[in-house]
Formats: sequence, structure tokens, C-alpha cells
Amino acid sequence: MAKRNRAGKGTFAQRVGTFFLCALLTLFFIWLLDFLRDDVGNIEGPDRDTFYAELDQAPEELLKDLRRQQAEVTRQVQRKQGSQGDYKASMENARQVMQGMVDLKRLSIEQGVVFPPSDQEALAAATARFIAAQKQFETANGEITALNFQSYDLEDQIREQVVVVTDHRRPADELFEDAEETHELKTGFYKLAIQLPLFLLAAWLVSSRKQSPYRPIYLAALVATFWEVSVIAWEHFDREYFKYIAIITAIVITLGFLRYILANASKPPMELLLRRYRASYERCRCPICDFSLRRGSLREAVWTRKGPLTTAAAAPTDAEERPYTCPSCGTILFDSCNECQKIRHSLLPSCENCGAEHATEGAS
Ligand SMILES: [Zn+2]
Ligand SMILES: [Zn+2]
Repeated sequence: MAKRNRAGKGTFAQRVGTFFLCALLTLFFIWLLDFLRDDVGNIEGPDRDTFYAELDQAPEELLKDLRRQQAEVTRQVQRKQGSQGDYKASMENARQVMQGMVDLKRLSIEQGVVFPPSDQEALAAATARFIAAQKQFETANGEITALNFQSYDLEDQIREQVVVVTDHRRPADELFEDAEETHELKTGFYKLAIQLPLFLLAAWLVSSRKQSPYRPIYLAALVATFWEVSVIAWEHFDREYFKYIAIITAIVITLGFLRYILANASKPPMELLLRRYRASYERCRCPICDFSLRRGSLREAVWTRKGPLTTAAAAPTDAEERPYTCPSCGTILFDSCNECQKIRHSLLPSCENCGAEHATEGAS
């Protein structure tokens, strides 16, 4: 009983407040450690292009040349298509003039008037223009078809050359991937070199300062550093290994909790035990076997699930100053105080009459 916490657990509001502040603190810790992790992670890694630069550049150059040709062909096709639009416009224009002239001519024949020679010439000129534009249009069409064939051919060549270049680059890709893996591992270790000691420090504080009022802060630090270490392991180390690390950590943590719960259940800590005893005395039941506490004025009381139904106003414990042993389990529940010789609660630490402290031991 040397380290009994006189301050107790605090009010409900204080506990809720502590919980939320600790959750907030955990988030801030994680934030801070994230910055740290990012800064370490900014170390520059290997560059793929430098690996390619050491290869023979010929296949790459050929591919570039083919792509250049392809672009040129596309450009020409676009230009021809533009001109075709122009030819089409002149054709349409000439066609309209022709149509007008033909209509005029038909009208003059119907009216028996002579079609003027100047109009005859204009009609001939329009027809010639129409035919010329049509010819140019056709020529452009032919050229576009030829260019398209060339383009398809180039496309095939490019596709083949891409395969050649990919094969050619493969050794460089492999070297680069090796270098990158090494880099990942290296940055992972750098990050761990900062975060792992923090994690271990927090774990040590949590496990060694069990009675410290600042324990929630240590717990926040432990959760934050544990999170960071897990993230680093996930980001930098081979997933194959990580899955084992993750599952083993999960098992260890679960076992830890289970051990704590089982240990509490079989041999509860003094604080928990006292809380249980207090509650039992309050309810007028034996703290050990939960049998009703038939003592003093309660001897004749009617017992319900919630406790005794008393008609007398008298408190159950000060009615009769006599030691009391539970008739069910034989535990001494009320006994005389060593100091003042009055009757006290045997399972609680202090005498209610003189305040003398008595050693309290476990249930057995
Ligand atoms: Zn009992
Ligand atoms: Zn006493």
C-alpha cells in the first residue's frame, strides 16, 4: 500500500478531458514525426535516365527518327487536307457561276434572244475553273492516300522499334531497380534510426513508470511512435517480410493485453480489489462471495437483488459493535481495530473510528 494514489482517478469530466487531450497529443506527435520522416525521405534516389545514358543509343535514336518522320507525315497530311478545303471552295464557287450562266442561256433560248458572246466566254471560263479545281482536289486526295500508307508503315516500324528499345533497356532497368531497392532500404534504415529509439524510449517509460501521473503522455508517445515505425516498415521493407513483422507484432500486442486482463482477473491489483470491496460493503454484501451481509439491524431485513430493504433508518454497520464473519465463505468482514479496539471494516485499509491504517492483503 506504499504507493497508494491519494488523488484517486479524478472526476468523470477530468478523465474524459484527459482522454481527449491525450488523443489530440497522439495526433500531434504523429504529425511531428511525419515531418521528420518526410525530411529524411527527401534524400535523392537513383535516376533512371542516368542508367539509360550508359547504353548504346542507336536503337533509341532510330526510334526517335521514326517518330520524327511520323510527325512530319502527319503534318503533311494536315496541310493537304487544308488545301483540299480550298479547292472544294473554288469548285463550289465555279459551280455556282456555271449554274447561273446555264440558267441565263436557257432563258435566252426560250425567249429567242441571242446569248451574248461575253456570257458564253464567262461560262467557258467558269467551267475551266471548275475542272481545274476538281483536278487539284483529286490530286490532293491521291497524295493524302499515299501519305496515309506511309504513316501506317511508319507506325508498324515504330511499334517494332519500341519492342527493340524495351529489350535493349532491360539490363539498365534491372540495374536501376536494384539501385532503387537499395535506396529504399537505406532511407528506411535512416528513418528507423530516428524513430525506433523514440519508440523504445516511450515503451520503456510506459512500462517502468506505472505509477506516474504522466503515464497517459507516455502512452500517447508510445502509440505515435509505434504508428510511425509501422508506417516506415510498411513503406520501405519488403512486403514479404513486413507481413510477418506485422502479424507477429499484432500477436505480441494482443498477448500483452490478454496477459494483463487474465492477470487482473486471477490476481487483481490492490486498487481494483479495494474498489470491488468498497462497492460490496456499500451494497451490504460479502466482498468475497457476494453473500448478503446479515449484520446488526440487517439481520432480519428482506434481501432483494439491489440490497436489503430496511424499514429502520439506522445504517447497517454501526448498529452492533461486534466482529462479523461471512457465514458463507468464512471471511472476517468486521473486526476490532488494533489501535482503538473498535469495530472496523477488515477488508478496507483504514479504521473508520481512529483512522489507523491496516495492511490489506488479497482475497485469500
Ligand atoms: Zn462471504
Ligand atoms: Zn481504530
